Order: sequence, then structure tokens, then C-alpha cells
Amino acid sequence: MTVSSISRHRYLVVDDEEFIRALVARILETSGATDVRKASGGAEALGSIDAEGAPDIILCDLNMPGMDGIEFLRHLVERNYGGGIALISGEDKRILETAQQLGRAQNLNILGFLSKPVDAAQLAELIGRSEVGPESRRSRPGVSVKASELRAALAEDRIAVHFQPKVAVATRELVGVETLARWHDPERGFIPPDVFVAVAEANGLIDALTERVFSLAMRQGAAWRAAGLDLKVAVNVSMDNLNRLEFVDFAVGTIREAGMDPHQVVLEVTETRLIANVVVPLEILTRLRLKGIALSIDDFGTGHSSLEQLKRIPFTELKIDRAFVNGAQHNETARSILESSVVLAQRLGMTVVAEGVETEEDWDLVASLGVDLVQGYFVSRPLPPDDLPAWLAGWTQA
Ligand code: C2E
Ligand code: CA
Ligand code: CA
Repeated sequence: MTVSSISRHRYLVVDDEEFIRALVARILETSGATDVRKASGGAEALGSIDAEGAPDIILCDLNMPGMDGIEFLRHLVERNYGGGIALISGEDKRILETAQQLGRAQNLNILGFLSKPVDAAQLAELIGRSEVGPESRRSRPGVSVKASELRAALAEDRIAVHFQPKVAVATRELVGVETLARWHDPERGFIPPDVFVAVAEANGLIDALTERVFSLAMRQGAAWRAAGLDLKVAVNVSMDNLNRLEFVDFAVGTIREAGMDPHQVVLEVTETRLIANVVVPLEILTRLRLKGIALSIDDFGTGHSSLEQLKRIPFTELKIDRAFVNGAQHNETARSILESSVVLAQRLGMTVVAEGVETEEDWDLVASLGVDLVQGYFVSRPLPPDDLPAWLAGWTQA
């Protein structure tokens, strides 16, 4: 960690304790930082971000009167903040771990924690991580797409789909696949779906994207079915797709046309986006369910009103977010969220899926907890449709 890499960034220090604010700012400035802003609480910090732009790194206390650190993080998610975040706390490790899990699950780039009293070495080490830091799942600096580029890709049928296997833990049997949108641009290379899905949502293109992905998925599912491979095919839908009642007719029509059965179709809905106005989506989801389509609550554990949603919407499947699966063996907080989600889903009679199973250790843990289905790199990466038979042959043999 060099002084110059500290000096390159813009900072915002958020802490209600004047002493800590001054101390952290002082350490940064001594290391060469010239742009260090300070705020005494979450509201002031958000005001500063809105007025003067987002800093590269936010150093934020968790325990503050008024808006606490967790609530502050949620506001950063709403603002699509893509910079680094260091959490400062005098609290015990469990609270810090939980805050870190929650932040990462919401795609924030949490660099790690600083425990009070903050010292220079600790701070330098943490900021060093922002250069190589954990990959943010939503905001990837450097990759950005224009709505016009996405519109053209959609119009020219350049959005493809890959499929990731979902297997039964008890029998290792292939039960279904999740459809994941893929956009490989000849000039720019691979563009991550979370990047272009966000662009689609913000620019009125999400219905076109979902319709394209859904149609491709149904056609592929029917082709597998004709070849004797009966799979459940899951498609991700955005909350924005569930604001139009036509969606039900579109889904049912496309399933029929392709020659699929509604009972083979799963719609994965991301919980964090289920919050605002639920009346129309609720009606749509209930009607889809009545047609026999399965409904999965995606990224479970990362939202704020999970239990509320579970009571209201007739979900049949619960997908536990990978933040609580991968490496859970070594993280007490993740493991307890994982365990309680499994128990909850079982009580409600839902199928439980663990995503992000990357190692045999992850597999063994979820198997011992009674998870039904597993998805993750340990089983397979998302595959182009033509590669599925070869993967299946290898998996069945192993
Ligand atoms: P998701 O629905 O949670 O999909 C699972 C993501 O986790 C996929 O990323 C998959 O490649 C990745 N993954 C699978 N197994 C593992 C693992 O073991 N370890 C790790 N670290 N990652 C794993 P991908 O394809 O980049 O998609 C990211 C997100 O983009 C999806 O998250 C989904 O929210 C969104 N997305 C993708 N396709 C569509 C789509 O057609 N429509 C909508 N609305 N969203 C989509
Ligand atoms: Ca999903
Ligand atoms: Ca997920």
C-alpha cells in the first residue's frame, strides 16, 4: 500500500463522534489524501453525496443516533453507489459480520471493517483492498452500456441465454435449469447481465428483454423435452415486468406455443424489488400461480421485508442468496441465516434452493441442513444449451 494510492481517492468519513471523524480524516490526510469530506450522520452524508457527488470511498460508523449505519447502506443501494465502503465500529464482531453480509448481499462493495480505535496501518490495509477489492455484483466501474446499445442488441436478437443446472441434493439428479441472459458484444466482449438488466429497467426495455429471454428459454425447454429430458426451466423476472396485466397472457401464450407445460416453468422474482406497490404484482403472481407456474423468491435473505412478502405472495420455492451459502461453514452469521431460512421454507412447504455452492464443503453443509436443490459452480457454471448434454453425461458418471 503506497501513500500515492491513498492520495488518489476522494473520501467521505461518516461518524457521529467528532473525535473519530477528525482522527480518520487526519490519518487520510497524513497519507496524502486531499479530498476528505466529513459528515456527522447518515442524513448529512447523503446530503453531501447528492450535492457534491459520490466519493470513491466511504468510511462509515455503524452505530449512530438517528439514521444508523445499516439504514445508511440501504440508501447507498438506492443511489447505486459503486465505490468502496469501510465500516467502522466499536461493536462486537457479529454485528460487523452481519452488516458486511447485508451490504455485500445488496451488491455494495464493502471493503471490510475498522475497529475503534482506528489506526493508520489498519486503514491503509483496507483502502489497499479497494484497488483489488471484492467484485461488486451490481456496479462494475468501467462497464457501462447505453440504452441505445441495448435496444439495438435486442432488435438484432443478439441477447442469448445460458442455463445453469439445479440438482437434487439427495439424489444428485438434474431437476431443472435457471436461464441467465447473456450479451456478448463483438467489440466490447462480455457484458454482465446485472449491468444490462439495470439499464433495461431504467429505460423501459425490461419487458422486451424478459420476453426475449423467456421465449428462448421456453423453446429450449421444449427441445430438451422432445429429446426426452424433462427439466424445470426457471426464468428471472423483474418487478417491473409485473406491473402489466398482459404479462400473464404473454407467459401462458409463449409456454403453449413452445410446447412446454406451465408446471415445468419457474419464475424467479428478486425479493429486494418486491417492496413498493404490491397490488398489481400480487395479482399477476397469483394468477401465474393459478396457471400452474412455480414462483421462486430469489436472493432470499438480502431484502428487508422477506417475511412480509412470504405471507402475501404464493411462492413455491425459496432461493437462499449465495452470500449465506458460499463459505458459510466458516461464518457463524451466514450459517445461522442459512439455517433459519431452511427451517422457515420447510415450515411453509416450499422447495429450498441454495445458490452459490462452490465447494464440496458448501455442498455438505447445505445437504446436512435439508436443502432440496443446489445450484452453483460446484455443480456447474451456466452453460450454453448445446453443452448441457455433455455436462450431464459427466455429472451422472461422477
Ligand atoms: P441471480 O438470479 O442470482 O443468478 C445467479 C448468478 O450467480 C448468475 O450470475 C450465476 O452465474 C452466478 N453464480 C452461479 N453459481 C455461482 C457460484 O457458485 N458462485 C458465484 N460466485 N456465482 C454463481 P449472472 O449470470 O452474472 O447473473 C447475475 C444476475 O443478473 C442474476 O442473479 C439475475 O439477477 C440477473 N439476470 C440474469 N439474467 C437475467 C434475466 O434474463 N432477467 C433478469 N430480470 N435478470 C437477469
Ligand atoms: Ca435468479
Ligand atoms: Ca440469486
